[in-house]
Amino acid sequence: MDDEKLIPLSALQHYAFCPRQCALIHNEQVWAENFLTAQGQQLHSRVDSGEPETRKGIKFERGVQVAAHSLGLTGKMDLLEKDLSTGQITPVEYKRGKPKPSDWDEIQLCAQALCLEEMTGQTIKEGALWYHQTRHRHPVEFSEALRQRTREVIKDVAQLFVSGKTPPARYEKKCNACSLYDLCNPKIMQKDTSSQYLERLFAEENSDEEASE
Ligand code: SF4
Repeated sequence: MDDEKLIPLSALQHYAFCPRQCALIHNEQVWAENFLTAQGQQLHSRVDSGEPETRKGIKFERGVQVAAHSLGLTGKMDLLEKDLSTGQITPVEYKRGKPKPSDWDEIQLCAQALCLEEMTGQTIKEGALWYHQTRHRHPVEFSEALRQRTREVIKDVAQLFVSGKTPPARYEKKCNACSLYDLCNPKIMQKDTSSQYLERLFAEENSDEEASE
């Protein structure tokens, strides 16, 4: 697969959260520098900085570039831990906020593991998500179910990129936490789409009536 067609790891999390958000960011290059995003970027710039270090037999490497050409994936990991006695590697992703009600973060982490497996030939059984708000590290097992779900999202994102389309807005509770809320305007857009739909429906009914007269 050509480099320009590679899917950024972050797109998987965006897609799993909301396909429209993924399309706005990656197909339309829209990005809202709102409070939540800015906070996330500050956190990542802190994580990105710093030289590799070794503590208690574990080597910590930050901002590691990874790719899986067989899956068309590329991106940068927050942290890679390597156990120097066993050689086992563990991806760690830092997140603003707290654990999410769905598997968005786990999918991004699992995709990192798939990249590392392709690059190293090593099987990676577990990773970790570290949440800034709760200051907690959550272990994530890369089960077959999570791997399968991750592969499905990779496939869906690839199709979204090829289509170049942006799915319509649909307001849901999660929209309130979306960094693109003001640009997307889901409540208004959804109303617009419904009223356009109704207008179309009435127009079709009228033309049917006219045709049958
Ligand atoms: S506001 Fe809602 S519909 Fe719009 S991009 Fe965000 S999550 Fe998706």
